[in-house]
Amino acid sequence: MTKQKALLLSIFRSELCKGQHRTADELLLLAREKMPGISRATVYNNLRSMEEEGLIRKITADGGADVYDSSFELHGHLICTSCHAIKDISVPTLLEDMKRIAGADVDSYELKLRYVCENCRKTV
Ligand SMILES: [Zn+2]
Ligand SMILES: [Zn+2]
Repeated sequence: MTKQKALLLSIFRSELCKGQHRTADELLLLAREKMPGISRATVYNNLRSMEEEGLIRKITADGGADVYDSSFELHGHLICTSCHAIKDISVPTLLEDMKRIAGADVDSYELKLRYVCENCRKTV
């Protein structure tokens, strides 16, 4: 593993990213705090390859920037249709239900729930 990839992975596993969803640009800034010379292309390429290796997950928010998720636990996302904020939700019984419906083992799922978050509801 390259130094740059190891750095990104350590950022994902640190408190900075715990329970957070970070855009590539936010990750670039975090990486530059530790490795000032790291280029945008390097960060982007590494994020893509980490995603392909299943080390991180990319979530595409409709209309918002793609974000990377450091959580490896199966969970779904609540996405605000107004500000595109993303929140984790866990539905512990969902996997069991889906296995039963699919009649087979289910390894993973993607769950996106769209709503208007509390902040946005306040400002309307
Ligand atoms: Zn919102
Ligand atoms: Zn998440």
